[in-house]
Amino acid sequence: ARASAATAPVTPGALADGTPVPLLANLGKPEGAAEAVELGAEGVGLFRTEFLFLSANAAPTVAEQRDAYTRLLSAFPGKKVVVRVLDAGADKPLPFLNDSHEENPALGLRGLRALRASEDILREQLTALAEADAATRATPEGPADLWVMAPMVSTVEETEYFVAMAREYGVKTAGVMVEVPSSALLADRILAHADFASIGTNDLTQYTLAADRLLGSVAAFQDPWHPAVLRLVREVGAAGAALGKPVGICGEAAADPLLAVVLVGLGATTLSMAPTALADVRASLLSHTLDDARRVAEAALAADGAASAREAARAASASQK
Ligand code: PEP
Ligand code: MG
Repeated sequence: ARASAATAPVTPGALADGTPVPLLANLGKPEGAAEAVELGAEGVGLFRTEFLFLSANAAPTVAEQRDAYTRLLSAFPGKKVVVRVLDAGADKPLPFLNDSHEENPALGLRGLRALRASEDILREQLTALAEADAATRATPEGPADLWVMAPMVSTVEETEYFVAMAREYGVKTAGVMVEVPSSALLADRILAHADFASIGTNDLTQYTLAADRLLGSVAAFQDPWHPAVLRLVREVGAAGAALGKPVGICGEAAADPLLAVVLVGLGATTLSMAPTALADVRASLLSHTLDDARRVAEAALAADGAASAREAARAASASQK
């Protein structure tokens, strides 16, 4: 029988020359898993655990967390699932982790910094993840391929801290998000310690252009096409290639079909996005080879600003077809 459109398998993400570029989903709730699979997600590139607890006044219990993570992991047997430990602070305050009185919360005790200051919460989260992983191992479908990463890492020392902590709880693949220029600039040192990097282009753009991502009056600066952001991505891509370590993108930039090509040209090995963006990005990748992607990226990198980078990439993409 012919599969219906809704159940037809979607081809894995790849460039025109066959280079695989796994296309993954950004999720905030386990309930989103079924739709992501239907839309062709090959796994999860960013599970934002803080979304589960935004309305909680007290830290979630290990049992509550284990149940949520088990539901997530069991939807992706054999597939990669990248879980981010709590990214509290700035645009996502969690009352049980953050002091809401900071004057500059985006530059304050957020992400891994906040977890380190409340280390019990980090330990409980890693315990819950280990228990969920163990629970799915006992199912007939088997476990997901669990990767765990930390948000808002700005130093090599923080990377070492997080990777060592994750290993204590049996995490096999431990990585960090690159969302701060310092981490992008030291990507080679960071990737010497982490198993992978995942670039959060939303925050990387905010911190590179020094423009609050929530502030309408500076919204024009929040454009990941900016060549300053692209140069930082190139830095991380080159470090990943030199060390043979994966470099994913999980910010909104990955959902822009042409920018996705640029990011792959700069060395990104996987792209993660809102599931509704997967189809257009898949189609765009399929119309460029790796050489094309590198040429399109070079054109964008050579521009003076975001608008001209977008234009240059568009022209370079059109001229090679
Ligand atoms: C990012 O900053 O790009 C990212 C993926 O994390 P969040 O949007 O949750 O801050
Ligand atoms: Mg972020």
